[in-house]
Amino acid sequence: MPSLSEIRGYTPAVCSQLAKLGIHTPQALLLHLPLRYLDETHVTAIRDLRLGEQAQIEGEVVHNEVSYKPRKMLNVRVQDDSGIINLRFIHFYPSQIAALQVGTRIRAFGEVRPGFFGYEMVHPQQRKVKEDTPVNTALTPVYPTTAGLSQNTIRKAVNLVLTDEHLQETLPDWVYGPLQLPDFASSLRLLHQPSPEIALATLENHSHPAWQRLAYDELLAQQLSMRQHYARRKQGRAPAAPPSRQLVSQLLASLPFALTMAQQKVVAEISHDLAQPHPMQRLLLGDVGSGKTIVACLAALQMIEQGWQVAIMAPTEILAEQHYKKLCGWLQPLDIEIAWLTGSQNKKTREQSLARIASGEAILAIGTHALFQEEVQFKQLGLAIVDEQHRFGVHQRLALRKKGQHSSLEPHQLMMSATPIPRTLSMSYYADLDVSVIDALPPGRTPVATKLVADDRRDEILQRVRDACAQGHQAYWVCPLIEESETLQLQTANDTYAYMQQAFPELQVGLVHGRMKPAEKQAVMQAFAANQTQLLVATTVIEVGVDVPNASLMVIEHAERMGLSQLHQLRGRVGRGSAKSTCILLYSKQQCSQIGRARLKVIYESNDGFHIAQADLQLRGPGELLGTRQSGVPMLKIADLERDIALLQQAKQMADELLSKTPQAVAAHLQRWLSHGDELVKV
Ligand code: ADP
Ligand code: MG
Repeated sequence: MPSLSEIRGYTPAVCSQLAKLGIHTPQALLLHLPLRYLDETHVTAIRDLRLGEQAQIEGEVVHNEVSYKPRKMLNVRVQDDSGIINLRFIHFYPSQIAALQVGTRIRAFGEVRPGFFGYEMVHPQQRKVKEDTPVNTALTPVYPTTAGLSQNTIRKAVNLVLTDEHLQETLPDWVYGPLQLPDFASSLRLLHQPSPEIALATLENHSHPAWQRLAYDELLAQQLSMRQHYARRKQGRAPAAPPSRQLVSQLLASLPFALTMAQQKVVAEISHDLAQPHPMQRLLLGDVGSGKTIVACLAALQMIEQGWQVAIMAPTEILAEQHYKKLCGWLQPLDIEIAWLTGSQNKKTREQSLARIASGEAILAIGTHALFQEEVQFKQLGLAIVDEQHRFGVHQRLALRKKGQHSSLEPHQLMMSATPIPRTLSMSYYADLDVSVIDALPPGRTPVATKLVADDRRDEILQRVRDACAQGHQAYWVCPLIEESETLQLQTANDTYAYMQQAFPELQVGLVHGRMKPAEKQAVMQAFAANQTQLLVATTVIEVGVDVPNASLMVIEHAERMGLSQLHQLRGRVGRGSAKSTCILLYSKQQCSQIGRARLKVIYESNDGFHIAQADLQLRGPGELLGTRQSGVPMLKIADLERDIALLQQAKQMADELLSKTPQAVAAHLQRWLSHGDELVKV
């Protein structure tokens, strides 16, 4: 693709300004669409101006004066056959005073406002004209820009590339025709130079078919690129393991519960994938407490039964430890050898684990990020399971895929997440994965009651902690998040701990925070799980996965500082047993912002992770919700997932068809839309 600098008419100065906007090619410039438009296609007689209206007038300057009261400003009066209007400039250059000399004929465009001398325009756009200078024939686009790059320069730059050469159609007409969408060239011409008959509102609210065509193209490009990566990876070879005949039923028979329908459905989907000779790429979504661990364990057994190794990775040591415990309990009776690997092990145990993994003696490896490291060599890895996948970067997942690389077989991949992702987001940003959803919780859970309490009522809350523990239950006290300083966060946790010990002499109080050594953390969690401590003071490290069913009360301090998904995750730590559970969100009356209040309201009103995620999406946008994944995925510039949901559905359906029928069209389309930066999607 040519760069702009190779095209006649672009000076190096303009090129470098455009580069600041991320525009390097004619295609990128063409896709830099206007924010709004000005209607300079006709001239309004001054007498016919209406207040509040945007209008263009033309006349002769009859007065030009710099006044100093109430402040320095340039006042210019312009007259046409019908009347006079005042133009006012508060910021102006001496050259402007000269350009607006009495006797000059100008056209001015601006909003009509009431002024001292009748109607006026403040800082109108204006230029010198002759009596026969033609009016514009198209609406004037206003582009997103950057300091030093004028609207006129961008407009000229766009006009230079608005030629057939750069506007070639990438899609066959059977793709966009049935959707009643116009072709690419006329859509772009229209958006950059709309004719005055078009209703401005349809351009500005993006409902015009030309906008829709561009939004569709962008969504389609995203789908195509992700489906292409998906298809490429699917061509890889992986160990096919037929459904288990023995281990799975043995384990199921030993469990104190039966799988829910929702679990059975996803177990079947995963089992089917594992039996294929191509790598599974599946994301398992399920709200906190929906029972993903057992599903992962059953998947592992299918591979293990055929002699393939399985790795299970969790983002924190506490969580990995908990998986290790749980799986040891389930699997050791089945004589399954499990290795445990974390960054904090001493050299000797670590080397032992590594050796058992490398020899294949340990058929299951459980751990943290440590499992990604280069020195970890599996004998024959068949399946990698990543819990809370949004906590891991794309690079780490890539490293994991390479673990199978010594043979020609790649491991299957199962990603799990408790961050419920709104359907629109998963349809678009997870199009390169198959998605399974556990959409119901196991029976017998009573929903957690959530209370919003201002932090001047702390004493009452302390009493509630006392009561809960007196009844034999346990409680969490979550310390505020202090993003700016880890030291301060630590101090707060220590202070709270000291305070609680004093406040509750009759209770055993524990403390867990991110700076503790893993062995210490582990000891604290064990004591809490065994009810040796009744109150656990914690930082947000307990956010994911921790499972202590006897805990029935959670107090979260400064809840207004936390994100919605985070609060939902935290709250999910209680309500895991049969007792009625409560989550108290303490907020600071002074510090709670508007958006903080909106967030707390959502959490207060809903227990449904998907609803909360949808609200989070509206409050914060997709970037934050997707976490590290966003770095690897092309973000949308034109389409809007809320507004353009229908187009997204169409694009999703079309992508696979295009990939199989017209590879050349796919290549051309992706070339136009994805100039750079989509490398990481391949993970
Ligand atoms: P999450 O999806 O948040 O990882 P877990 O796998 O930790 O959830 O499961 C939460 C709790 O529910 C665990 O104690 C688990 O043993 C239990 N559980 C899982 N499936 C069922 C079921 N079908 N019936 C009853 N309890 C279940
Ligand atoms: Mg879990």
